Amino acid sequence: MSLAFAEARAAASRGEVPVGAVVVGPGGTVLARAGNRTEELHDPSAHAEMLALREAVRVRGGQRLADCALYVTLEPCPMCAGAAVHFRIGRILFGAYDPKGGGVEHGPRLFARPGCLHRPETIGGLREREAQAMLRAFFGARRMS
Ligand SMILES: [Zn+2]
Repeated sequence: MSLAFAEARAAASRGEVPVGAVVVGPGGTVLARAGNRTEELHDPSAHAEMLALREAVRVRGGQRLADCALYVTLEPCPMCAGAAVHFRIGRILFGAYDPKGGGVEHGPRLFARPGCLHRPETIGGLREREAQAMLRAFFGARRMS
């Protein structure tokens, strides 16, 4: 989770919304780490989770990450939660809850829907205050500038 926070802080320093994600394989091997790059890549789908999941399968080969965990500083949005289903990620551990934009515990609650092809184990609220404070600081600074 510390690596995910480091990626989020690096994203903020690039002027991106501070969200960081890390994919960890069996035995704790870090397969991929990424921060948001939507501004830099001019790609609204370049969320930290999407980049980290894609990189993890690229590094490993194959398409599935059932024995892997995704650590992310913010509750994944519906797009990233949907991607996590396609990648068959085993576990998702996230920091701050996102009542407005989240898709796991809020909004569509993707994994709870009947017919969901794969339900990753999810744990939310990891270092939640720290994750919230980072987002608040970023958006607060942007409002003032
Ligand atoms: Zn997302």
